[in-house]
Amino acid sequence: MSGESQLRADIVEIGRRMYARGYTASNDGNISVRLGSDRLVMTPKSVCKGFMTPDMMCVTDLDGRKLQGDRDPSSEMLMHLEVYRQRPDVQAVVHAHPPIATGFAVAGIPLDRAVLAEVLTTLGSVPIAEYATPSTRELPEAVRKYIKAHDGMLLANHGALTVGGDLYAAYYKMETIEHFAKISLVARLLGRENLIAREEVDRLQGLRGTYGIKAPAPICADPSEVLSVLDSSDPAMCQVVQAPAGGGQRLVPNIHGHAGDGASKPPAESEEIRLTYRELSALIEDAIRNLR
Ligand SMILES: [Zn+2]
Repeated sequence: MSGESQLRADIVEIGRRMYARGYTASNDGNISVRLGSDRLVMTPKSVCKGFMTPDMMCVTDLDGRKLQGDRDPSSEMLMHLEVYRQRPDVQAVVHAHPPIATGFAVAGIPLDRAVLAEVLTTLGSVPIAEYATPSTRELPEAVRKYIKAHDGMLLANHGALTVGGDLYAAYYKMETIEHFAKISLVARLLGRENLIAREEVDRLQGLRGTYGIKAPAPICADPSEVLSVLDSSDPAMCQVVQAPAGGGQRLVPNIHGHAGDGASKPPAESEEIRLTYRELSALIEDAIRNLR
């Protein structure tokens, strides 16, 4: 099989897997891969990714001009082109709407807490690109802010985007994001989420070289850098990962809260704390037991 035939077959296979796993419904999602230095093979507009055939694919140049194919290229082609422009190292781009990760994107909750070693070594954090109307020029603009420093991101009220050194690498990152979202959701439903301490995160990311994982960017070093990344419209050059100092512990228990709220420090004496009725009852019961 020639290089191009293999890439077309790989896109068909990945589309089938995405559809089978429920990452796309109907005609959602799109996939592209570099073909040599100046062309792309891309899924066409308006087809279900679960039922594609190799002959359906479009070949375009890096400006999106169609060179080959009976159908028009994906409606999200502009987003794909922007990724290839910003990331010469990226060989493939995958976009889908996996439901749990997209739920986080709808809730406006980034997947940026240090909770899974596997995610910290591969993706680091998964931010949310600002809402943009699908298929318009707004979407590549929103993606541009994060793509230099991240291999995966959520798209607000839309879906997720992953990139990689080959098609399967980009696709596996989509699987990792959805799996990460599922586990995060369960932990939050269970009411506690222990975080991996910053020192352990550094150790895990230090192992990337050993596994041959190329990380796009380091973790932002200080809090002011984190805030400037979140607030400015400049592209992020580092990653925001919520990993509190462990003080010798590798896991930091029961952290609640969001970026920048100092979740790892205990509340000051004058600060309000909130308890559920059950927690309050347990405290009272405990106090009574101690009185006896
Ligand atoms: Zn989409």
